[in-house]
Amino acid sequence: MQADEFRAHGHRLIEWIIDYHSRVESLPVESTVAPGEIAALLPEHPGEPDGFEALFADLDRVVVPGLTNWQHPGFFAWFPANTTYPAILAELVSAGLGVQGMSWATSPAVTEVETRMMDWMIDLLGLPDAFRSTSEAGGGVIQGSASEATLTSILAARWRATEGAVNIDSDTTRLVAYATSQAHSSVEKGLRIAGIGTDHLRVVPHDENFAMRPDALADLIAADRAAGLVPFWVCATVGTTNSLAIDPVRAVAEVARAEGVWLHVDAAMAGIATLCPELRWLNEGVELADSYGTNPHKWMGITFDCNLFYTADRISLLGALSILPEYLRTAAAEAGAVIDYRDWQVPLGRRFRALKLWFTLRTDGVAPAQAMIRDHVAWTQQLAEWVADDDRFEVLAPHPLNLLCLALRDGDEATAALISAANATGQVLFTRTVLDGRVVLRFSIGARTTRMADVRDGWALLQRLAS
Ligand SMILES: *Cc1c(COP(=O)(O)O)cnc(C)c1O
Repeated sequence: MQADEFRAHGHRLIEWIIDYHSRVESLPVESTVAPGEIAALLPEHPGEPDGFEALFADLDRVVVPGLTNWQHPGFFAWFPANTTYPAILAELVSAGLGVQGMSWATSPAVTEVETRMMDWMIDLLGLPDAFRSTSEAGGGVIQGSASEATLTSILAARWRATEGAVNIDSDTTRLVAYATSQAHSSVEKGLRIAGIGTDHLRVVPHDENFAMRPDALADLIAADRAAGLVPFWVCATVGTTNSLAIDPVRAVAEVARAEGVWLHVDAAMAGIATLCPELRWLNEGVELADSYGTNPHKWMGITFDCNLFYTADRISLLGALSILPEYLRTAAAEAGAVIDYRDWQVPLGRRFRALKLWFTLRTDGVAPAQAMIRDHVAWTQQLAEWVADDDRFEVLAPHPLNLLCLALRDGDEATAALISAANATGQVLFTRTVLDGRVVLRFSIGARTTRMADVRDGWALLQRLAS
């Protein structure tokens, strides 16, 4: 493809993206294709190139039918993955520059813009100064996902618990980790990858609000110590995936500190709500954490992928992850004058993801995200009132933010059937979960395009289908 073709095709693609956004509401929320249906539209082997025109037509023919439309106003499933125009443009620039940001020296702008954005986000989210790049021992980095942040945290904690002896001979077999059954699956996955294993993940009991019981954590740690094991990592979740339950971070941190256990706070979904100062209570106790992660790629409109990962102990993080081959040695790094983010993550290579934050904060600022979050929280409270007025339904968990967990009193089969029937209309998409044995319909209000009327229509649909 030559420059003049790129120009023409690029303009058409921008138009196509705008058109997709303007018509997404008319598409079914959930893709209705059967397994293999999309693959069957593609030739089995690559064949000869057939040009941009044919490709362009296939976006609508092959791709769009196979999309579940996360930007649809009736998208109430899983969690949001909002995308916005400034972030999309920044993605284009990142691809257009085609630079690698693994070290400061491989493109200083990638590192320095990222460091500034991580510090800006501390201001905007009201996070502790111990996470700043200018602090004595802390700092932040953009990870691809909350799952990578969790793994990175586990690796840093493992290094600290084994006093840096993480070579193949060191004994990590006695390390034990802690989280509730409500913690994200990436906790167990991370522990498996780090060689700790599922057997050494203790499930800390939760209370009636699905939040961790710090007394139960202390008991489990004591029992493990008595058995000669080494408690090393606890994950507190601020906004669980199941129900947005909020672990009591301060009380958990007090137990963790007393025991010398690393505390990671997974606030992937809910942490972004602290863009609104009145929701900063979500940060209660976070200043006692060793690491923290939240996802602008969910509720803020920063196109996937963008996780903010902060630590107050970069020595352990760098201890766990720095390896310096000869071909990456530079004078600036050796003098300690620069950050090499390759030492803060699992992969070596890295994209210019900080542009997404910079573009968004420079063009739109945070006011649109704040207004959206406030609307979503208010509408969830309104929805809860409607649900409370209908005896057929009940609410199964606290709902201070934007997720309502509801069920039919008729039982699990009825709730599951309601979810299927609602989703089959193509106008909405709900996902199910299980909370302490009960099947739950998660009504997650998080898409940027959702309006109050969509919430009302979604609830009216559930009422109609339930009768
Ligand atoms: C969404 C979510 C995750 C996983 O996020 P990814 O960025 O997709 O890895 C982890 N933890 C919580 C609490 C989440 O809400």
